[in-house]
Amino acid sequence: MTPYIPGTQPPYDLPLGRFLSPLRPGVISQWLQSTTTRGTWIIDPLGSNPALPLEAARAGYRVLVTCNNPILALILEVLAAGPKKEMLQSILADLAGMKKGEERLESYVQGLYSSECPGCGKVVPVQAFLWKKGEKVPYKRRIRCGKCGGDGEFDVLSSDLQKIETIEKTSLHRAWALSRLGELDKEEDHAAKDALDMYLSRSLYSIFTIITKSEALDLTPEKKKWLYALLLSVCDEGSSLWQVSGSRSRPLKLSIPGNFIENNLWEKLEESIGIWSSQPEPIPLTHFPDLPPEAGGICISHGRLRSLLPLPDGLRTDQVVAVFPRANQAFWTLSALWASWIWGRKTLQSMRSGFERQHYDWHWHAHAIRNTLSPLLRMGKDFRIFSLAPELTQSFLLSVMVGGQAAGYRCESVNFRADEADIQMQFVPGELPDEIKLGDLKAILRNIVRDHLLKKGEPANYIELYAVSLTSLVQSGRLFKDPLELSTELQKLIEGALGEILDDRDFVKPYGSGSFESQRSWWLMDDKDCEDPLSDRIELKFLELFRQTESWSVPNLETKLCATFPGFLTPGHILFQALLDSYTTADPTQPGFVKLRPEDNDDSRNADLLEAKKKLQKVGGLLGVTTEGENPVFWLKAGNKKEYAFYLTTQSIIVPFLRELTRSPVKNGIVVFPGGRAGLLEEKLHRNLHLAEAAGQLHFLKFRHLKELSTFTKLTQDKWTDQLDKDQLQWSSPRQISMLESMPDSDLYT
Ligand SMILES: [Zn+2]
Repeated sequence: MTPYIPGTQPPYDLPLGRFLSPLRPGVISQWLQSTTTRGTWIIDPLGSNPALPLEAARAGYRVLVTCNNPILALILEVLAAGPKKEMLQSILADLAGMKKGEERLESYVQGLYSSECPGCGKVVPVQAFLWKKGEKVPYKRRIRCGKCGGDGEFDVLSSDLQKIETIEKTSLHRAWALSRLGELDKEEDHAAKDALDMYLSRSLYSIFTIITKSEALDLTPEKKKWLYALLLSVCDEGSSLWQVSGSRSRPLKLSIPGNFIENNLWEKLEESIGIWSSQPEPIPLTHFPDLPPEAGGICISHGRLRSLLPLPDGLRTDQVVAVFPRANQAFWTLSALWASWIWGRKTLQSMRSGFERQHYDWHWHAHAIRNTLSPLLRMGKDFRIFSLAPELTQSFLLSVMVGGQAAGYRCESVNFRADEADIQMQFVPGELPDEIKLGDLKAILRNIVRDHLLKKGEPANYIELYAVSLTSLVQSGRLFKDPLELSTELQKLIEGALGEILDDRDFVKPYGSGSFESQRSWWLMDDKDCEDPLSDRIELKFLELFRQTESWSVPNLETKLCATFPGFLTPGHILFQALLDSYTTADPTQPGFVKLRPEDNDDSRNADLLEAKKKLQKVGGLLGVTTEGENPVFWLKAGNKKEYAFYLTTQSIIVPFLRELTRSPVKNGIVVFPGGRAGLLEEKLHRNLHLAEAAGQLHFLKFRHLKELSTFTKLTQDKWTDQLDKDQLQWSSPRQISMLESMPDSDLYT
């Protein structure tokens, strides 16, 4: 079984990236390098993310991509050509110099967005206007003044409103936008108008003006393609799907945010040069049936894979790689609209489906996946599909799993990263003979959920339990009688059964209080046979790896950890990052490598533990108690009654202390640990609310605060107790863990 391949963070940043499934650098190439030799053919039957073929080709493979969305194909072709910044700038300069009336096009379009700077009074371009959905006028304008340096959001002027009014009076741009669509049937027309509603008048007018002027430019076919790329960015930046708040929104539906941005489209046109010229070097790209060189390259086919089969002999392969995209109504509908604007109605013919697919539910998606994957079987039985499905949701996973099974594939392996809801799967040709009796669903799912939680040793969230349940089902039998008749009821059946199980308070206990399933997690009522918490096992493995090898490259380290905990136990990236932050430091001798912090070497930590023990004795002395024991160290009060148990550790693993404390008559358990472990422990408790609940009975004392305490000559019992009670660790309040740190010394030691 191939373990999860983490790749490197962050994911590729591509033009129109917010509509694409995120793909992390290194995942595709690492998969290919571990399974096949360079120069081999790879098939990307979905063509859903241009980063996939680009990375594979750069790694020395030849990739056949089928891509029936001309917008995605354009992105791939231009990025493969890797135009230099200067080349795109020269096209833009030609465009800027076109005449609109007496004016240069650039100043004409900039003029549509110009306004008086409140700082210096000069008329300057506005970066953006901010709107509230449904209102007739913007509520703010964003200015970064090139003249006086003024920068901020300011009230809108009446002259700004006049400009908008003037544009709204002309209907030219809307007539143009509709005429580019040509003849549409009723349903298509409806969808096209919905898409058009995503544009404010001025945005549409700018797009219309820029595109119609650009048509008069005399360019080579290659440069024309690059021009189209820039125009595509303008079409995207011109929609009202840009949220004002900072979060990176990933629109799936044509729905205008409550507060949205109207961009200055000339400025966005100039800015887009950066991302289109971001590729390191060109990649050979051919159009089927022309083939790229053996050293690596991309062969693109704009049709469907079905029409290419059987593949020519030279193109035989056993490697299929696919990034499943989420069903994205916004992207497909806008793609059709943009294709019509950029290329006119001829190209739209191939994209009409963008206007047809109005019901993007799991059932539609499952059929689409089946239709894409089933023709591959004509290549024979000797291949596998390495598939990625980032940003998983229940219905998305259901369509992938059911669509794959209906196409005639078995899901051979699954790796799932719970914190990102990211899944990597391998499908191989082959069907399962037995159909699952869906009547027994509840009993089956209950066992799956119990097994998973016992193995994980930690609560799991809904999408994780759903993914475990569904993949186990799919791996054990068929979910339907006839692949052509997928039941729309399937989703209700599975989610209903899982919901009932999770509502059974004799079986599981819920944590978290959010109204969203994603904010809740579940743990077993009967957990006596469970493993140690997964995150603790990951921490121990992490430390073991540094005992084996002193210095690690970060991607190798993460890959190694993922290989140790495959399947549904795949370590989360956030936990990995917390381990890195807590334990490691950059290796000065090797860039990109990390090693344990000097203070986390075994020797210095052993010294810390000895030191802590001495300090406890000293502080105990201040309070007049007797100290006893190695670890835990006990403080004994009058009558030799054990009052406090101090558990000394250099890690963030507290479960053994909790177990011991439960068995012990001592009431006060205090974990004495390095301050550098606090962030890691908080991250664990944040993920594991079951543990966080139990951890409520412990106190936490950092080495360095213990040291501070020990330097004092006076400490009253009341003050000590008082402060420890206030120092209860609560993951939800990270402040509290550093309580002792932030407390004014005078308050504690009086
Ligand atoms: Zn100014």
